[in-house]
Amino acid sequence: MLKKILKSTIIVIIILILALSGNVMIALAVSQSDLDEINGKINDTEDKIDYVGTQLSSAMEQIRSLNAEIAEYENDIDDLDEQISEVNAKIETAENDIKKAEEEYNEQENRLKRRLVALYKAGNTTYLDVLLSSKNMVDFINRYYYVTELAECDQNLMEQIEENRLEIEETKKLLETSKEQIESLKKSKEDTARSLKNSQAMKQTYIDQLNDEEKALQDELEQFEIDKKQIQEELERIAKQNNPGVVAGSPSEAGYIFPVQGLNIYNINVRSYPSYPGHTGVDININVKGRNVIAAKAGTVITSTAARYANGEYRGYGEYVIIDHHDGTMTLYAHMSPGTRTVVEGQNVAQGQILGIVGTTGNSTGYHLHFEVRINGRCVNPLPYFQ
Ligand SMILES: [Zn+2]
Repeated sequence: MLKKILKSTIIVIIILILALSGNVMIALAVSQSDLDEINGKINDTEDKIDYVGTQLSSAMEQIRSLNAEIAEYENDIDDLDEQISEVNAKIETAENDIKKAEEEYNEQENRLKRRLVALYKAGNTTYLDVLLSSKNMVDFINRYYYVTELAECDQNLMEQIEENRLEIEETKKLLETSKEQIESLKKSKEDTARSLKNSQAMKQTYIDQLNDEEKALQDELEQFEIDKKQIQEELERIAKQNNPGVVAGSPSEAGYIFPVQGLNIYNINVRSYPSYPGHTGVDININVKGRNVIAAKAGTVITSTAARYANGEYRGYGEYVIIDHHDGTMTLYAHMSPGTRTVVEGQNVAQGQILGIVGTTGNSTGYHLHFEVRINGRCVNPLPYFQ
């Protein structure tokens, strides 16, 4: 019994000694490349959201201008309706005037007929013959005047009434033509307004689709961020496990050297951190092409890989290396030139040892070394390490 307890105690002590000595690298359940991958996904999703956002605002701009156009057409249609009702009122007046002229004409005609009947009854048949052979009343009057001495004003009056009626009818015809023109203009405006409303409805459908798409992407992004947090926490845990009890000292205590051979902090164009929102390191980018990337401090290489898309193209950090310095800090060297990495995972490196050559692989627009310092898996400002 005692022997057994002693035996298991010894095993526990041996494990503790091995763990504390730092020589045992606990196998990584998650690795930096998982984090790199999730960062790539987050970037892609954010790009998609940006794209959808751009589409959305341009579609909304188009809807706004369509709405303005439709309002203009509807205004025009209202104006035309007003014009149509004005013309209708004028036509009605003309019709009333025509009716009045016809009544006056008829009245005058009846008055003449009565007078002719009286003449006929007086025994003068000539007038009836004249009346019957006439084409119309004006014609009759013309003939009649050859044979009678009726007052000239009768003829004048009837001619005037007839002339007036014809004039009004002419006006009415013009009014009707103009009404037709206005109505056809209104119809074409209505057709245009209808087709504008159709494109507006289509745009609205598109906007709804984009909104749905944006929402789905946001949900996706949220999930990625949750995954990222988990990976980060896991990396943090592993970093602590690999260096148990080690607490990172101040940057000056770390004793780093500048990670590009022959250069210094003045070869960093933007010496602020983060140099732009979300940037996790510093970009050493002045006079760097072809220079060696070197280990800032001795340590163990925990990652030496190339981040690539499924189609083989570089993404994210491109060709990169991470070194654990066993002092609570790690350093990352990204975007190195293809095929220039000289170290492998698990390899111990000395301070100043060459890791590769400055390149521009992955998410990079020009030759530079993207350099990160991490404490317990979290990125910190690298600049104080060179001051
Ligand atoms: Zn960078």
